Amino acid sequence: MLGIALLALLGSTSVEGHKGCGGGEIMRRNPGGALVTRDDGTWQSEAALSESHLSCILHFQLTIGGDQSCMAYSYAPWADLKDKYPTIWETAGIVEGDQEAMDLFSKINATVNQKVPNVQPRGTSNGDWSGVNQTGLNSPETCWWTFGGCSTPAADLDIQPDITTLPIPESWGYGFDDGPNCSHNAFYDYLNEQNQKATMFFIGSNVADWPLQALRGIKDGHQICVHTWSHQYMTSFSNEVAFAELYYTRKIIKDILGVTPKCWRPPFGDVDNRVRVIAEGMNMTNIVWSDDSADWKAGAAANAITPAQVDANYQEVIDAQKNGSYSTHGPVVLTHELSTYHPLICWTSTYGQTTIQCRKPSNSCLKSRPPSNTFYLLLSQ
Ligand SMILES: [Zn+2]
Repeated sequence: MLGIALLALLGSTSVEGHKGCGGGEIMRRNPGGALVTRDDGTWQSEAALSESHLSCILHFQLTIGGDQSCMAYSYAPWADLKDKYPTIWETAGIVEGDQEAMDLFSKINATVNQKVPNVQPRGTSNGDWSGVNQTGLNSPETCWWTFGGCSTPAADLDIQPDITTLPIPESWGYGFDDGPNCSHNAFYDYLNEQNQKATMFFIGSNVADWPLQALRGIKDGHQICVHTWSHQYMTSFSNEVAFAELYYTRKIIKDILGVTPKCWRPPFGDVDNRVRVIAEGMNMTNIVWSDDSADWKAGAAANAITPAQVDANYQEVIDAQKNGSYSTHGPVVLTHELSTYHPLICWTSTYGQTTIQCRKPSNSCLKSRPPSNTFYLLLSQ
């Protein structure tokens, strides 16, 4: 009954689709799940939703399922703040009159100009590098991860290297990109059932769209990292825009969830020394990955791959563990919150680590894994 009452309160005037990863990729990543929509800016002036409402709504969404779980809603704490933020799903910039942001940017900008004056923006925000001469961009002086995988800046620059693997033997860098999202409650329930904690790389615009679902991430004990405001290629941006993409995502996580992230992941892994310095100025460590599950390719119209191929990618990591490859460290595996696949069910032993949660692989991985399916469907069976 409560669910029905809330449904009436929440209402929906959804008119626009998300365009998170590469224009609608988030929707493509969620085949069979609910359509992701949001309203047109005329959010309802509903009073702040309390903690108890939060759990009711989550339960409601889970049990009702279908498109209703993705109805737009207004959350007063965010509605009161949103004028102080860039427009969601648009390239971020420093908001007019935001003196605190301007002061911090000015300090960071000076450091960028001092440390890496010759590293310039390149390509477009959607990753078009035609005409870009890549020669030397993989050197430690520029250290562009995108091509060649440079993760260790030149020592004399005094820039933190990326995290690409975990220093803990037999561990697993367990993280999920691109949330939060209205359709992920079943997935979070699933993690709870498996007693698994993970690192969630949240997109700022998704936190704005789905603040209650973002709250669930922190309530469930997951670690929250920044995944930029509008999910575009960071090395294409000016210092100021790159700063704003990180700054406002970190800020919305602090404003809505009450925690200040110390970690971030560049969309598409697109990072170089200039962007590293900007993130470091906000005390955020860059976490990329050593292995790609390629779950993001599953279900996409272009370059789609089959579930079996995603499984094979995971199996490769598991086989490497069996062969002793992780006797001194653990892999960081790229996986997405909105992906269709989740084969990590049997990684049970927990290690703590400051910047990313880990799971110790067992030799029986994949044996008890659920069929490849949406998390939504898994939980409603
Ligand atoms: Zn992403």
